[in-house]
Amino acid sequence: MEIKKNLTPAPKAKPADESKLGFGHVFTDHMLIMPYDTGKGWHDPEIVPYGNISISPAAMCLHYGQTVFEGMKAYRTADNKIQLFRPEENFKRLNKSNERLVIPELPVDLAMQCLRELLEVDKDWVPTLDGTSLYIRPFIVAVDPFLGVRPGDQYLFMIVLSPSGAYYASGLNPVSIYVEDKYVRAVRGGMGFAKTGGNYAASLHSQDDAHKLNYSQVLWLDGVEQKYIEEVGAMNIFFVIDGEVVTPSLDAGSILGGITRKSTVELCKSWGMKVSERRISIQEVADAYDAGKLQEVFGTGTAAVISPVGHLKWGDKVMEINNNEIGPISQKIYDTLTGIQWGKVEDTFGWTVEL
Ligand SMILES: *Cc1c(COP(=O)(O)O)cnc(C)c1O
Repeated sequence: MEIKKNLTPAPKAKPADESKLGFGHVFTDHMLIMPYDTGKGWHDPEIVPYGNISISPAAMCLHYGQTVFEGMKAYRTADNKIQLFRPEENFKRLNKSNERLVIPELPVDLAMQCLRELLEVDKDWVPTLDGTSLYIRPFIVAVDPFLGVRPGDQYLFMIVLSPSGAYYASGLNPVSIYVEDKYVRAVRGGMGFAKTGGNYAASLHSQDDAHKLNYSQVLWLDGVEQKYIEEVGAMNIFFVIDGEVVTPSLDAGSILGGITRKSTVELCKSWGMKVSERRISIQEVADAYDAGKLQEVFGTGTAAVISPVGHLKWGDKVMEINNNEIGPISQKIYDTLTGIQWGKVEDTFGWTVEL
């Protein structure tokens, strides 16, 4: 499909200090927008200057949450190439989310073409400072001006780009996590596996409660018995117990299948480690801790890649893991994944894609 380009006559100044980028505040000069209409399919993709869009106040996404999104990054390598990490996995996952929310399929090839052409236009926005990247946010929303509840007939697919700072400015600092035993994020048969706005709306109250107790994120338990571990806010979770790397299995459909999670599992297996995707209860973790067998806990996600957990609070019990320091397995996974992403470590898996 041909992508029309309506480029801005007035490019913005790039951020002067890449050490102060933070996350999600700064946007590039352009964005991609492509409508879908029932009967016509996806049509007329266009790259336009970044700016506000106009939709009806009755647009269905604003009322009933028929939205899906993705999150990925473009990395600048030392020899000044720009590369992506398993981007097709993101668009395959977008289609899983689409299917759950009755949003029409977006062919992966078309999505990749949109992304590549947008990145080509705004590639100078991929920052250069160590650890920085260009965050990529593709999303789809239903925009029919209609107040009835039904799947939409009109959608917008968009991609916006945001240069973002190094997640860890000073080494990998462990995070403190609070086990949520009141609210749940997702249930069996629900939308937990989909990257859709409603899941994040459901998480805000707990996140707010956790912050008030000085914990940075929430660990979710299953929505039925509140016994089994699911995941953290926007990260999957791993435990190293007596040499076994354990992460909750995705079978129940209530956990978001992270690409960093998948890569971590594949990496650990390639190193000959014992890796299990299985049910794991919070009680098992507490018992392992008491027995001195809980060696490491870490989250995985595109933003931080690996986020070591230093404290885990479950009710009155506060577990301090590995003396609140990053463990050797977490460090090795972090070094390897980030090494591959920024082109410092040879990619023997074929995960990176050059722009
Ligand atoms: C995006 C996300 C993750 C991590 O997925 P990655 O593909 O590794 O970035 C984990 N959990 C939730 C709820 C998420 O939204």
